[in-house]
Order: sequence, then C-alpha cells, then structure tokens
Amino acid sequence: MALLQIAEPGQSPLPHQVKRAVGIDLGTTNSLVASMRGGRAAVLPDEHGALILPSVVNYSEPGAPLVGAQALALAGQHPADTLVSVKRFMGRGREDAREDAARAHYRLVEGEEGMVRFVTGSGEVSPVEASAEILRSLRARAESTLGGAIDGAVITVPAYFDDAQRQATKDAATLAGLPVLRLLNEPTAAAVAYGLDSAQEGVIAVYDLGGGTFDISILRLRRGVFEVLATGGDTALGGDDLDAAVANWITAQCGAAELSPGQYRQVQARARDAKERLSQQASVSIELDDVLPGQAPLTLAREAFEELARPLVKRTLRACRRCLRDAGLDAAVDNVVMVGGSTRVPLVREAVGEFFAREPLIDIDPDQVVAVGAAIQADILVGNRPEGDLLLLDVIPLSLGIETMGGLVEKIVPRNTTIPVSRAQDFTTYKDGQTALAVHILQGERELVDDCRSLARFELRGIPPMVAGAARIRVTFQVDADGLLNVSALEESTGAEASVTVKPSFGLSDEEIAGMLQASFEHAGDDKEARHLAEQRVAGWQLLDSLQAALGADGEALLDSDERAALDAAMSDLRDLLDSDDAAAIKSQTERLGRLSEAFAARRMDRSIRDALSGVSLDELDDEVTP
Ligand code: ADP
Ligand code: MG
Repeated sequence: MALLQIAEPGQSPLPHQVKRAVGIDLGTTNSLVASMRGGRAAVLPDEHGALILPSVVNYSEPGAPLVGAQALALAGQHPADTLVSVKRFMGRGREDAREDAARAHYRLVEGEEGMVRFVTGSGEVSPVEASAEILRSLRARAESTLGGAIDGAVITVPAYFDDAQRQATKDAATLAGLPVLRLLNEPTAAAVAYGLDSAQEGVIAVYDLGGGTFDISILRLRRGVFEVLATGGDTALGGDDLDAAVANWITAQCGAAELSPGQYRQVQARARDAKERLSQQASVSIELDDVLPGQAPLTLAREAFEELARPLVKRTLRACRRCLRDAGLDAAVDNVVMVGGSTRVPLVREAVGEFFAREPLIDIDPDQVVAVGAAIQADILVGNRPEGDLLLLDVIPLSLGIETMGGLVEKIVPRNTTIPVSRAQDFTTYKDGQTALAVHILQGERELVDDCRSLARFELRGIPPMVAGAARIRVTFQVDADGLLNVSALEESTGAEASVTVKPSFGLSDEEIAGMLQASFEHAGDDKEARHLAEQRVAGWQLLDSLQAALGADGEALLDSDERAALDAAMSDLRDLLDSDDAAAIKSQTERLGRLSEAFAARRMDRSIRDALSGVSLDELDDEVTP
C-alpha cells in the first residue's frame, strides 16, 4: 500500500487503472451520489453545486420528466403529477400501499403482478420507472464530474427491504443504465463510513431516521469486519411524519376546513421548513398568508414541537429495544451512529443518547454518511483496492422454510441468520410411487403453514417411483448478498432438479414483521399443540394409507374374516378420530391399529421371503451361503 499518494481532487493517481465506482443513497426524500476522489469518499455536486437531489419526479410537463429541485418546485401546482416518496411504493402492491397513496394524493392503478402504478399527465408510471429517473440524473451528474462512464455502482436500500423491493431497486438501476455491483443496507453503509475512518472494535447501533423510513441495526465490528447482529425499524416512519404532525397542528390552529391537495402540500412544506429551523432555533414563526389568505403568522416553540414529535420518537425507541433483544444483547452498545436528516432534531439526539446511554456519533454529516459508505464499498468491489478485504454481513429478518405433511412448516434458515447463506435439508417421499414433490416456501416464525407468509411454490417432477421414504430430495435455500432467495430441490438418484428465485409480490412493513414475531411468541403454546396434533394426524393417515394398500394386495389371501373385520373396524375408528382435534386419542388409536396389524404384516413378510426363495432348492441356498 502506498504510504502517500498525491493527487488533485477529482483526479485519480492512476487514471488508466482506476475504475469509476460510485455509491448511491437512493433515499425516500433525498438521494446522493458519492465517489472516491483523491483518496477520500466525497459526495458529488450537481452543476449548481448542490449535493442533495430531492427524490422527486414531475410528469406534468411535456417531454422528459423533471427530476429533483425543479420537480419539487412544481409539486404544489401539480400534486398528482409530481411523484414524491416513490421509494415507499417500490415493489409493493396496491393494498400494501393504500395508506401511503392516500397521504400522497396519488391516483394509483394496479399494474403487472399487482404492483402499483401512478397515473400522471404523461400516462402511467411505475415506481421503478420513476426511481430510474432519479438514478439517471445521479448517473449523469457522476459521469460529468468523473469524466466518463460509470464502471460500477453500490446502491443502498433500507435494511427491511424484502426481495421484491430489492429486485425493484435493481430493475430501476438497470433501466437507468447503471451497472450494480451490489445493494447495501443503508445502516451498514453508514457503519462502513465510520468504521474505516476510526477502525474501532465493539458493538455499534446505527440509528437512521430519514424522511420516510426508520432503520435500526446492531452491528459488531471486529478487526475491520462488520457483522450485522440484528436489524429492525419501520418502513413507514420518518421526518414526513413529523411534517404531517406539524401540518395537522397548523391546520387545527387555523381552523381551516377542507384543504385542497395543493394547499395541503404547501402547508406541509411550511411545516417541514418550521421543523428544520427548530433544530437550531428555540421558536419559529410560520407565514401562511399566501396559502390561507388572511391567516396571521403562527408561532411554534421547540417545546410544543417536541410534544408533537415525542410519540414518533418513542416508536423508534421501541423498535430499538426489540432489535437489541434480537441481537441477544443485554449489555449496552459501545457506539451509536446517527444517520438521516431527522437525527438533527435535538429531541431525537437526546432521546437516543439517553436510551443507549451513549453520546451518539454525529461527526459525519447525517445526510451524507450513507452515500459515503456506499462509495467506499463500491471502490473496493470494483477492484480499485486490492488490499480491501472488508466483509459485510447482513441478516434475514424472518425465518424461511418449507411446508411439510400435515400443514406444518419446517424452518430451514432461522431468522437473523447472516447472509449470504446456503442451507440444505433432505426430504423424502410420503407415498409409494410418488413421482412429484410440491415445494411450498414460507416465511415466518409460526408452526403452521396457515400462520406463515407464503412466498412461492414450485414442483419437482421426475422422481423415479420408489417406496415411500426411499427417495432422497435435497432442498437448498440460498440467500445472496442482496437478500434475494433461491430455493432448489434435487432428487439425488436421478439428478432431477427444479428451482425458483423468490420475488414475493408484496413487501412487508416492519409492523407486519413485528406483528408476525409477536404472534409467534403469543402462540408458542398453541403452536406446539397444533404441531403435535398435525404430526399425530400425519402418522395416522400414513398407517391407514399403507394398510389400505397392503389389504388390497394380500388381505384376501392372508386374513380370515374375523381378523379382517377387526382391522376394518379399527381403521374406521381411526378415520373418524382423524377428523377430531384429540391428539391423544389419535395417537392411541394409531398405536392400537399398529399392534392389531402386526400379525398381518408378519404374514406378509413371511410370504414375501417364501416367494423370494421359491424355486431355489435348499441345497443351492446352502451352496451360496457356504461356498
Ligand atoms: P431519506 O433517507 O428518507 O431520503 P434523509 O436522510 O435525506 O431522508 O432525511 C430527510 C429528512 O430529514 C426530511 O424529513 C427532512 O425534513 C429532515 N431534515 C433535514 N434537515 C433537518 C433539520 N435541520 N432538522 C430536522 N429535520 C431535518
Ligand atoms: Mg436515508
């Protein structure tokens, strides 16, 4: 490694070797692009010197859509044609996004695979297409600053983005002509920015409160290697909610009745401005005359604002507590990194510092820290730093598994497993001669299929007919570094294989994830019982099935009528019991039938041995046994 490299800012010391790599923070509210320049990661400005690109796209004007500040300026006039917080809709269905849509005054329709599309003056636009506009604008900015095409980009996503949301982000990058090196969780990127600067060891909490999302991650840093111990947060909580709280306060103070969507936007913009000024000032005045004619200015003091903000801040702390628990930490963390514009709110800093009993780190600009970390990572991944051995590990938020007999879920990758991960488990056939296996992939912590979330299904065909339990089918779950899941099933004797890459149609909010976890704790007892019942039922059905087949083949020949009647009666009793919820009764009747059929089974065994031996003289047999 060179001890000292001297280069002009923006000029690389080895122009013929160094590749152009960028880190992009594709934010809900604001987006940034950063790159290594003169040995340091720096956010790249646009031609006017602005670092932040508002994540806003306007479709009201003919021609190419407007992006950024220009688009934002048209938001008041053309609310329905100006897409803000598009990231909230990435990879989500209409039902999932309804609340966000109502807030944003958009007209939505359902497109391909149930995904939302916005109806604008220039036709229908998908969230992926709108995001691609933002990325295209950042790409142009980076190419003009760096003087050429981009070789690779690292794009950050919230830790809670699921497969569909991550895939949507990749699709947007592809549309924008950006080669994606990988996606990186935003909190992890922030830790990279700090970790490389100070190379500390210990446990770090990354608290990211942006405009539209809240993420909390607990990381462990050891000898320059980060491991994400747990993640949590809320994909629908951020500075926007503080704006809405202040906007509602303004509306109430003014006694204003119905506001038009345009007016509401303007009030929201005033609210946001007031909120941001309150981070520096003890009290602010809010001018409203031009929005609500005749309205006198309002005064909002910091204490009054903090009363409005407190419930939202408390929600973030509850998520922090859950995350600490998930990380298995009772002890305090060593460092708290603050990310996101909303961490400038003094109440947020105080509350977070108090919660973790640590003074939070605010050295790196909270708006830039994610893009800076992504740029450092991109530089390593593109191959500019052969000595860069930074390893990043993320975790999956909910367990992944498959459906087994009786509607039960077999977990294959437990939640909070670090990714990338590959786990395999062997399964077998349930019935004689079974030639296909249905693989149903589920996500969640509960025991029964009905209580988990279905991600995908596929079928493995071409299993050679064998007796039940003889086939060996290896099911492999692979989650790649971007959190995309691939499941494959392989029948080992024939090599028959089938697989699926999961892109679930709908995203899960953290509330839903938290709800699913909560339910699994609450129902732990019931679930155990339900699993026990299902297992007894499977055992009962399996015995009935095999006995039925055996009776069909050898019942006439090997049983007298009394024996047959006794077996039939016991089978019918078991069949009736299988409809009940009485696991103990099912179990004892299954065992009774098992004992009752032992003699029949023994006779079948004898006969098949006799059949095998028939035609072979005892002498010959002796010859074989004793050569
Ligand atoms: P995102 O990651 O969602 O794009 P950012 O990290 O860029 O969001 O943060 C944007 C949010 O930060 C907005 O809600 C904005 O109002 C808020 N913000 C920016 N500066 C301040 C400030 N000085 N005081 C309070 N909030 C601020
Ligand atoms: Mg952010």
